[in-house]
Formats: sequence, structure tokens, C-alpha cells
Amino acid sequence: MGAGPAGIEAAAALAASGCGVVVFEKNERPLSNITDKACLFPNFESADTVAAQLLAKLSHPNISLQCGHDVSCITSAGTDPAAGWRVDDESFDAVLLATGYTTFNAKRKEELGYGIYPGVHTSLELEQMIRNKEIRNSISNLPKRIVFLQCVGSRDEKTGNHYCSKLCCVTAVKQAIEVKKLLPSVEAYVFYMDLRMWGQHYEELYRTAQQEYGVKFVRGRISEAGGTFDGRVQIKAEDTLLGLPLRMTSDLLVLMVGMESSDGTRRLSTLCDICGDYGFAQSLDPHLRDNLTPRQGLFVAGACKRPMTLTDSVVDGRSAAFAILSAADNK
Ligand code: SF4
Repeated sequence: MGAGPAGIEAAAALAASGCGVVVFEKNERPLSNITDKACLFPNFESADTVAAQLLAKLSHPNISLQCGHDVSCITSAGTDPAAGWRVDDESFDAVLLATGYTTFNAKRKEELGYGIYPGVHTSLELEQMIRNKEIRNSISNLPKRIVFLQCVGSRDEKTGNHYCSKLCCVTAVKQAIEVKKLLPSVEAYVFYMDLRMWGQHYEELYRTAQQEYGVKFVRGRISEAGGTFDGRVQIKAEDTLLGLPLRMTSDLLVLMVGMESSDGTRRLSTLCDICGDYGFAQSLDPHLRDNLTPRQGLFVAGACKRPMTLTDSVVDGRSAAFAILSAADNK
């Protein structure tokens, strides 16, 4: 279930091994979380190119893709755990939940002014502007200053999301560079709690942002954002390294929204009794059985389990296919 990177990769690996695979996707088109991006970190590869390569894998004759199909029912096919599964009206030997994530709704952080002040945007909206090569402030002028705020809806007691979303630090760095490429004279500031540049080439990207593009990183939290009479955003913050309160105005405030479990993940994992912390699907254990669940024939892959990069989701999808084939061999 789910035609995201994990689901597609798993389907392709299973199909190549001779299995018949049905992929259910609730949206009208697969890969909506990739095709809304301009390019991908850390190498600025075109998101459309990567999406096209993944989509091509679905053309295998053993794969049937059913878009616009929001699965409503998953049940065991019989009392014997080895009997397989019924998904809506069809029977399957194995089911893979790869229902992905959604992004945090920034309106839940009312103090940051999203949905109230026109200069406040989410990282997804900035991505659209970058994709269209048209970055404008609220009165359609070219912006002179852009501020990014990290950890919106992640690592946050108030919203109840204590976990780190893992991708938003490097996404902010990537977006700040893209903005500077499009508008070299713009001032870009990134407000962060910690910068978690844990992946290969992420640290280099962070250095490039500072040294080649002049992006400024400020360790601090923005406590409040308000509007100004000319459509800009006024920010109240604290520089936690200097221990000083700060106020600044910006043409755009970009909220780096974190990842949450999608509605589909919550609903379907609850139906299957594997709904875990924060509504993510829970695997049997995160070390050696991360694609297995306590239910025989039910598997999990990708960002329905926890925040995960595209790269990790693809690898996890492949790993899930291997787990499914191993389980079939052991039957
Ligand atoms: S990846 Fe960075 S911005 Fe995102 S939640 Fe973790 S620390 Fe915050």
C-alpha cells in the first residue's frame, strides 16, 4: 500500500523475483512527495528525473498500479495466520504498508503567524516558488531578506512531537542555496536549535552554504512572528549563543515543517494493530526485523515507520521485498 519510493522499490524487487504485485495508491498519481520538489539534497539532482526513474519501475508486467484507491479494509484471510490477507475485495499472500508521511500543519503554531501573515510560508511553499523559479514577497516584489526557522512541529513539547524529523536541517540548507542561486543579493538567515547534518555530503553542503553563498546561521529560537504595515514579517527571537534577544524584519519567513504520520498510516496501522508512537507504524524491532510486524504476512517500509529520507526509503523498500521473499521461502 502506497506508491511512494519505498512501495515502488519493494514492488519492483518483488516483480523482478516473479511475484505478482498490486500497488494501491490513494492519490491520483504516485510520488506526490517527490514531484512537489524542485531538486533533491545533497546533490541538487532534479526531483522530476528521480521520480521518472522510480515511475519507470512500475511498468514491469508483474505490477498492477491502482491509483485513486484508498484502501478501506485490511483483514486476515482466515483464522490460520498463514492464510494471507484480504485488502478490500482482493486476497494476497503478503501485505506491505508503505503509506508514507505527511507534513506538519504550521497553523498549529499560531504564534508563528502561518495563515495569518502573507509573508509567512512553509518550506513546501518555498519549494514550489523555487520550482517555478519565482520567489516573491507578499506584495509580489523580489525579497531582500529571507529567514528560515528550523524544527517547526518537531522536537516540540507543545505539539507533542518530541522526535526530530531528520530532513529539515539539510532541506533548509539546500533551499537557502537554491534561493541564493536565484537571487544572489538576497540575505538568507537560518535560525536553528542544532544543525543535524548527519548524512553523506550534508556537512559539505552546510559549509558551501556559508562559504560560497553567504548564508548566515543563527543559533536561536523565534518565539513570535507578526506582520508589518508593508507586508513584511517582524520576528522576535533569541540568539542563544550570545544570550541576546533579537528583533528583525524579513520579506519572507519560511517554516521548516517536520514530518508526521499520514492519515493513511494512522488509519491502516490501527486497523492492523501495529500503530505505534506518534501514529507511525511499528515494526517488530528497529535493528534486525525492521520490516516485520507481529502479524504474519504483514510488512512495513519507509516513512510510515518514522521520518526517513528518500534514499533510506528506497533502501528500506528493497529490504522489505527481501523480507517478504524470505518469509515466503520459510512457509
Ligand atoms: S532535522 Fe533539524 S530542523 Fe528538522 S527536526 Fe531535526 S533538528 Fe529540527
